[in-house]
Amino acid sequence: MQFIDLSAQYQALKPKIDARIEAVLAHNQFIMGPEVAEFERAVCEFTGRRHCVSCANGTDALQLLYMAWGIGEGDAVFCPNVTFIASVEPAVMLGATPVLCDITPDTYNLCPVALERQIKSVLQEGRLAPKVVVAVDFLGNPADHKAIADICDRYGLLHLEDMAQSFGALLSGTPCGSFGAAASLSFFPSKPLGCYGDGGGIVTDDDNLAELLRSLRVHGKGPRGKYDNVRIGTNSRLDTLQAAIMLPKLCAVREYEMDARQQIAKRYNDAFSDRFVTPFVADDCVSSYAQYALLASDTVQRDALLSRLNAAEIPHMIYYPTPQHLLPVFANTPLYGETFPHAVSYCERTFSLPFHPYLSVQEQDAIIATVLAER
Ligand SMILES: *Cc1c(COP(=O)(O)O)cnc(C)c1O
Repeated sequence: MQFIDLSAQYQALKPKIDARIEAVLAHNQFIMGPEVAEFERAVCEFTGRRHCVSCANGTDALQLLYMAWGIGEGDAVFCPNVTFIASVEPAVMLGATPVLCDITPDTYNLCPVALERQIKSVLQEGRLAPKVVVAVDFLGNPADHKAIADICDRYGLLHLEDMAQSFGALLSGTPCGSFGAAASLSFFPSKPLGCYGDGGGIVTDDDNLAELLRSLRVHGKGPRGKYDNVRIGTNSRLDTLQAAIMLPKLCAVREYEMDARQQIAKRYNDAFSDRFVTPFVADDCVSSYAQYALLASDTVQRDALLSRLNAAEIPHMIYYPTPQHLLPVFANTPLYGETFPHAVSYCERTFSLPFHPYLSVQEQDAIIATVLAER
């Protein structure tokens, strides 16, 4: 059994993916070939955004945005304390200071109350200028973008949606990727829309920002092309092959995979809700369930269960074992007196089960039986 079975997806889509790969091998435009623009248009259509600027990976997507916005030394970038480090790291790469905020106890997303508290602390101290809020749609569950947008408006901050995990998710019927000044995407293979290598992108409605990002991803190219360099940029493009591979996968997300994810999540929820804390998705939200996470009552109960899964050869993961403030790399990051009780409790108790749109009923049965078995 696979934790995320990419080969099952490939088998389902093989003729379409193979035909797309062969087309690229035939035309040989491996960098910025026609499939890149076609894929960007398809992502715009899916997310309802005016622009999609694809790039090399989801980490670069955040970094390119910070470069475009001129984020650096002396700037504060607010991030949820529970996320993949790539939500936090690019700001630090450019010299900014990450300010971590606790999560909510129900959705595990950035807590608007904790966010506002941290903004006030930063302003009161007066050393850093608040600039950006990174609102991660954690595990595919939309963040509270309405409350976060309101806070960003009041304090004049840029609202960045990190939707690396939420492709296909909805908030009040609106697709993730639609919130904030821009949203960053990752197409790492195991994400809800993944390629066969690294890939990423940015979606936005801001014409000027999109133009700047298109320049930054190709060495700061100017209006007369890639040897007319007008600023310092970088090399961060999505390979044509990866764009080609994702075109049929994007159709599958729309036509089949999101529904399959909802059905499997419902089956899991029904099976586990008496024994564990199951994912809470607000009434007006649809999660993409990039991961299906349960909470045990404590670390001891969790680790006993993980041993049982090991014995049954059922794969499992922990997203994530450590809140950002306890990572060695952030030992010197200012915490403004916060102790992050919800983040700490979540990381002590969370574990994730195999989950993907092609998980068979037999596999689901085996997982459910093992998780619920008495010791
Ligand atoms: C995966 C991920 C990223 C970064 O994506 P890469 O493509 O691996 O660089 C950023 N943020 C979150 C929340 C992620 O899960």
